[in-house]
Amino acid sequence: MAKSKVLIVGGTGYLGRRIVKASLAHGHQTYVLHRPEIGVDVEKLQMLLSFKEQGAHLVEGSFNDHQSLVDAVKLVDVVICTISGVHFRSHNILLQLKLVNAIKQAGNIKRFLPSEFGTDPAMMADALEPGRVTFEEKMVVRKAIEDARIPFTYVSANCFAGYFVGGLCQMGRITPSRESVVLLGDGNQKAIYVDEDDIATYTIKTIDDIRTLNKTLYLRPHENILSQREVVELWEKLIGKVLKKSTISGEEFLASMKGQDYAEQVGVTHFYHFFYEGCLANFEIGEEGKEASELYPEVNYTPVKEYLKRFL
Ligand code: NDP
Repeated sequence: MAKSKVLIVGGTGYLGRRIVKASLAHGHQTYVLHRPEIGVDVEKLQMLLSFKEQGAHLVEGSFNDHQSLVDAVKLVDVVICTISGVHFRSHNILLQLKLVNAIKQAGNIKRFLPSEFGTDPAMMADALEPGRVTFEEKMVVRKAIEDARIPFTYVSANCFAGYFVGGLCQMGRITPSRESVVLLGDGNQKAIYVDEDDIATYTIKTIDDIRTLNKTLYLRPHENILSQREVVELWEKLIGKVLKKSTISGEEFLASMKGQDYAEQVGVTHFYHFFYEGCLANFEIGEEGKEASELYPEVNYTPVKEYLKRFL
């Protein structure tokens, strides 16, 4: 079967650039949206040019110009959107409704992967304010996709390793201390961590896979389903030292939101759901889902222990 042509929207982003790389590496004809709003962002431009050097096609298109999106979409079979979605960077999830309209009008797309790549929003109907906004908006986009009968795959990537493993699951930290760690509650709730390059690989593997058509692909690499305590223990073994531990209760953790800005508050509620409630790993994957490491056992994903070695 010929490999699908892929358009990546948000291709210079933190995750998007990895998906561009994975798409090229897997031999897909790869198109990257080049937005005229780039202004004089010279680093973004140079990244786009480096994609071109590696064989990608740059396509001009803007969210302010419907026809340009339709024209871009018509060039390919599959669209992957990685538009920003965490408040401390920027949050543009609902802009995707414009992309959904363009895909609907173009009428040729065999698979659309919207910007999800986190917690399954369908599991988060009871999420706390203000963080529930992330899940609600991702569900609004899902509804638009399904109403328009666009074939889809939703990728539930769980915790990006870069944000969660390095900081030993502590909010606001991305490097591991050699002295101390604050445990969230008892530190025993299981979460799931995935290296961002592995997220990109699994995402590209799935676009031509009939088994994930109109399903959610959950990334649950077996060795990376770990509690915060287990992540800390792996680090302690690597450095040959036991860290000093303190604990913050769920009530205290939530109270820490007071006086913080909105982005911080969103983050606190997300961390609460992950590490106090265990929302990532406390459900079985049902009929509507598939698990990535089972579907693609050939992917040599990065275990958390290996990931932590980069900090030695
Ligand atoms: P980024 O913040 O890196 O942004 C990605 C891209 O969004 C940018 O490169 C840009 O695309 C595009 N963008 C930003 N603003 C606009 C705008 N106003 N109009 C059009 N496009 C815009 O995104 P991330 O890689 O951090 O996030 C991608 C996805 O991953 C999100 O859904 C997010 O929720 C999720 N995520 C999950 C995490 C987890 O731990 N599970 C952690 C972080 C993110 P361009 O290249 O065209 O300029």
